[in-house]
Amino acid sequence: MSTTSAGLPGTPLDGAPGSGTGIVGPGELLALFRARPALTRAEVMTLTGLSRSTVNQRLDLLQDAGLLVAREPDVVPGRGRGRPSASFAFNEEQGVLLVCDIGATALRAAICDLSGRVLRDLPLTSDVTEGPEAVLSRVDPLFADLLRTAGRGPEDVRGIALSVPGPVDHEQATVVSPPIMTGWDRYDIRGRFARTYACPLLLEKDATAMAWGEYRTHYPDADTLLMLKLGTGVGAGIIAGGRIHRGADGAAGDIGHTQTAGAEGDTGPLCRCGNHGCVEARAGGWAMLRDLAAAGRDLSTVDELVERIRTADPVAVGLARTAGRVLGTALAETVNILNPRVVVVGGQLAEAEEQIFAGLREMVYSRSLPLATRRLELHRSRLDVRAGSVGLALLLADHIFAPATVDAALADPAS
Ligand SMILES: [Zn+2]
Repeated sequence: MSTTSAGLPGTPLDGAPGSGTGIVGPGELLALFRARPALTRAEVMTLTGLSRSTVNQRLDLLQDAGLLVAREPDVVPGRGRGRPSASFAFNEEQGVLLVCDIGATALRAAICDLSGRVLRDLPLTSDVTEGPEAVLSRVDPLFADLLRTAGRGPEDVRGIALSVPGPVDHEQATVVSPPIMTGWDRYDIRGRFARTYACPLLLEKDATAMAWGEYRTHYPDADTLLMLKLGTGVGAGIIAGGRIHRGADGAAGDIGHTQTAGAEGDTGPLCRCGNHGCVEARAGGWAMLRDLAAAGRDLSTVDELVERIRTADPVAVGLARTAGRVLGTALAETVNILNPRVVVVGGQLAEAEEQIFAGLREMVYSRSLPLATRRLELHRSRLDVRAGSVGLALLLADHIFAPATVDAALADPAS
């Protein structure tokens, strides 16, 4: 996934004189605008090293395509001499993005502007194990409702992105051999949405989308970030070197199904994936509900579990502290391998921060190498329930407005 190629304010772009990479095309120029509120012609010339005539030609091209809008200068009475310059800005209202963060027991659909800002979202209870037709038929009316209330139609949708709690083939936008998502294996999600929407569709693993949202919004300087999602299951998303790390087959970050059983013969509890002793079979929301039921407390949702923990039910608190230590042990190994600057913990169980984070911190700091934890920060998700939606929208905007994609579309306006 390419991200915006614009540098920091004042940094010449690749392609500027002396960079040795050729000429700044319209797509690169648009990336420059996407990273800033607005720019004047003179500022574009300074940043790119392009001549006035070339800048004018490219700005006209982007304006004609509706990608840039001209802004009249703010005239402050009595200040400055001469006429202030007009500026240009990325047209974030030229269309909308639709995203849906699909979890194990709930989903959240959102409509976003082209900068990736969430304009409105709608949560809904939904069981992912019911299969793609059942789940996506609940997403359809949410998308339609979000479009209608925004005064938009399917023709205004520039891109769709979904996230799911399972392994994903990012290129094909399919779920691959999911441990819990019955019926989703290789299901044609793109083909289904193509019946209504003529736009690109991206599919991402839930924790990866959350990781991207947190990284871009709150930790852009972190470079290496690990997102731990604690919900019904346990998952992780990885940002390494400022990019999403999906692994060779999209299976990176599947921390929930790593084994915690050490001694031979101690197989541990049965997991939803069919193995014994997985991290989530001890510390996932579903496993804690199982253990609470065994202790005579029959709850049906992870939200109810969180409520029990926060109201100091001693059994629930004991389970949360144990889960924190199990998660911390698995996290310590990951920290040793990945050496992240920031670990962000999200998902419903992160709401039981006080009880779960104690064990998590204890194990991470006692079991990781000192060099790996010297500057390590561990935070609760700041985007909270919107982390997935925000990450999906930003990924989608970067995909649609990748410089090469923009250049290709401008060269062939029919596309
Ligand atoms: Zn498992």
